[in-house]
Amino acid sequence: MLLLPRIDDDLAAKARAAGCSFCGGRLDVADYPRSPRSANELGDDYAWRRSFCCAIEGCRRRRTPPSVRFLGRKVYLGAVMVLATALQHGPSKKSVAKLSALLGISRRTLVRWRRWWSTMFATSRFWTSLRGRFMPVVDEAAMPESLLSRMSATDEPAVVALLRLLAPMSTRPDLEASAS
Ligand SMILES: [Zn+2]
Repeated sequence: MLLLPRIDDDLAAKARAAGCSFCGGRLDVADYPRSPRSANELGDDYAWRRSFCCAIEGCRRRRTPPSVRFLGRKVYLGAVMVLATALQHGPSKKSVAKLSALLGISRRTLVRWRRWWSTMFATSRFWTSLRGRFMPVVDEAAMPESLLSRMSATDEPAVVALLRLLAPMSTRPDLEASAS
């Protein structure tokens, strides 16, 4: 979990170097607090989402860089969401009831996440633009487990590689919108 804040720092530095996307102005730090559930013990690294604000009077637009820690507006950390859902598939498949007891996440939330992968994500414009990169095709009914198993090309842990792949969605809610 220490690696993810460092990746977010890099993504934030890149966004800041690019300046304001509206007027090209300098960006000031304007991080905002997040209190993701199940992250109490992770400390300050998970208490803030990196964000910037244009320094030019009259513009002042916010620019929030992509994040591998926080997935969009979801209240749980991206990593928790990916892993908890992946554990519902695959060879060591865990039942929703077991996972709920193990992780302290309600059954309803676990089921909703699984449904998010197979409906919202599978039909999103974002996934539609990515799916062609994977050969043979990814089993969409078994996501994210099927996606995780394809992340072996990098030397990062699979979950980190997947969060990096998903990071653009963390700033662009429209990417989640259904493709159809
Ligand atoms: Zn600006």
